[in-house]
Amino acid sequence: MSKVFRLKLLPALNGDCIWIEYGEGEKLSRVLIDGGPLGAFPALRAEIEKLPPEQRAFELLVVTHIDSDHIDGVVKLLRHPELGVKFREVWFNGWPQLKVLPTLAQVAEYVEDETRGPIAGSYVDNLLLRSGRACNERFRSRAACVPDDGVLPRARLDGGLQLTLLSPTVDKLRRLRATWDDAFTKLGGDPGDRAIVEAKLEKDKRFRGDQAAAPVPAGVDEAAALATDLDAAVANGSSIAVVAEYADRRCAFLGDAHADLIERSFRRMAAMCSEKRLRLNAVKLSHHGSKGNITPEILRAIDCRNYLVSTDGSIFHHPDDEAIQCVLKYAKPTRLFFNYRSERTAGWERASTEAQPDCTAQYPRSNGESLELDLLAF
Ligand SMILES: [Zn+2]
Repeated sequence: MSKVFRLKLLPALNGDCIWIEYGEGEKLSRVLIDGGPLGAFPALRAEIEKLPPEQRAFELLVVTHIDSDHIDGVVKLLRHPELGVKFREVWFNGWPQLKVLPTLAQVAEYVEDETRGPIAGSYVDNLLLRSGRACNERFRSRAACVPDDGVLPRARLDGGLQLTLLSPTVDKLRRLRATWDDAFTKLGGDPGDRAIVEAKLEKDKRFRGDQAAAPVPAGVDEAAALATDLDAAVANGSSIAVVAEYADRRCAFLGDAHADLIERSFRRMAAMCSEKRLRLNAVKLSHHGSKGNITPEILRAIDCRNYLVSTDGSIFHHPDDEAIQCVLKYAKPTRLFFNYRSERTAGWERASTEAQPDCTAQYPRSNGESLELDLLAF
């Protein structure tokens, strides 16, 4: 039986919506990482509707963090139960996980087991509760996060996909909890108050019906991040980031995670694998190729030739030239993959060959299509 390990970067506008398939022969399993912003939902729905109803099942949904360009499409998806999508597991650090953060000793046990952000985060909490769907069961319903040092938590999904958790830490979640508290204080309640969330969700037109998405205002966190060199946005730092491994191929999905933690986690995973530099077949760059989320140190910690960027360049004009230049200089990539040909990405088709002679850039056939990658060919 021939194996399959492939992914699609859906046309998720300025956000991430990543569809992973793995398995053998006819028996494919799926993982969904994020749902993009509201405007990306039609593309996600179209992808789901290509599947016959009885196959609309995912082993895992990862909601990396609460920024609108990752979570809004998930809220929308959860509001469309008629699509019949089922998730065997959900990894999401919502209020129930933030309220009582795990102790470091509890996080260490995972290993043995093998803006408006908070409001949308509460919508996900609420919709999951409504559907009787718990999240983070694999982490004993506590926060999905990594211990401060030592071995990283690993999970093996049905069908054989192995996930190694890279981000966040308890400390980064503690900061997120404060922003969650602030957001609800402004609403005159506390984050555990289901009635407030329920009422707000019902009134929130953005997540009702199929009306076209309104333009998404930039989150406060993201705007703040632009003012600093390295990304310090609290929500981004809370991103769940993983390395997915199947059939001897590894791909890192970094959400919008912070560079310092990703570098440390890559080094820890390399140590776990007895590798000098962590061997990876592909990396989905953090934060849509923002210069605040990539460093030479990250690239020196890994041995990887393929880099993926998910964004249409709107709102924050990602990817930054400096980020791509950093990759070209320190990683010597052979291929860059962009899920949109935009004025931010089109220039790399030729410029990349000058900076790194063997590097080519790839795009979808036309904007609005998914960029599909066969990881087994990497
Ligand atoms: Zn983002």
